[in-house]
Amino acid sequence: MSGADLERLTDLISTARRIVAFTGAGVSTESGIPDFRSPGGVWDRFDPNEFTFQNFMATEGGRRRYWELGRTTFPVIRRAEPNPAHHALVTLWRLGKLDCVITQNIDNLHQRAGLPEDRVIELHGNATRARCLSCERPYERERVQEWLEAGVAVPLCDPPCGGIIKPRTIMFGEAMPRREMEEAERRARAADLFLVVGSSLVVYPAAYMPLHARDAGATLAIVNLTDTPHDGEADLVIRGSAAAVLAQVTDRIAPRPASR
Ligand code: NAD
Repeated sequence: MSGADLERLTDLISTARRIVAFTGAGVSTESGIPDFRSPGGVWDRFDPNEFTFQNFMATEGGRRRYWELGRTTFPVIRRAEPNPAHHALVTLWRLGKLDCVITQNIDNLHQRAGLPEDRVIELHGNATRARCLSCERPYERERVQEWLEAGVAVPLCDPPCGGIIKPRTIMFGEAMPRREMEEAERRARAADLFLVVGSSLVVYPAAYMPLHARDAGATLAIVNLTDTPHDGEADLVIRGSAAAVLAQVTDRIAPRPASR
């Protein structure tokens, strides 16, 4: 990341009036949540083909396998804290520049950093919540975790329902949430600056969002550690850490008061 790149991003953000940020797993790696594709990421340790919606729905064995993984991944999300990248996006919202964050993440960290619920569009759901698929009763994922840690292999809804409990995440092979997809596309098209942070931009249909924004005339900026397939369409690409880049840029736009 060069000083000139930081200056350019600072200028783009300073002059923008309606920024839409699009975040992926890379915005949360500095909070201690591994991404999927980097070395050491989730797919180095688990086979994604096993954890599909179809396998979850089809058999108790599929659900058992899913919860075995969920029991170990949820504590990582539970103990993670928002990092300077999440906080920088909140600063942009407080400055009246950020319209919303469209996120592929399921970790709830944008909300925990201080963005209101209605400013976070979650395309892949939220891992801190769960729900019964029969009666729709909501469950905190925390409560389900207590059952898993007490030895329950496949959590079921309280009697008399006994329905299948599913986390409120969008699993592989599951339909995308219609309302969120429509809302995300509408807001992407209304943005004047579309800022991608920490996404490989290979997971579709979420990865169409920067293209919708671009087609509608937005400036496209990408902050990511590695190349993405849409770098060629971007007005600015910064290779760097989400936390370092966003914190430096917001410090230039809204300097923090010096401590005494
Ligand atoms: P990804 O794993 O495909 O890619 C993450 C990208 O972030 C990579 O290109 C990597 O180079 C980059 N990156 C990693 N650390 C970074 C950092 N500190 N600063 C800047 N860039 C960094 O993730 P994705 O594109 O978001 O898509 C994969 C899917 O994984 C998503 O659908 C999401 O639902 C899910 N996921 C979510 C979480 C989470 O909620 N935190 C974690 C893992 C996976």
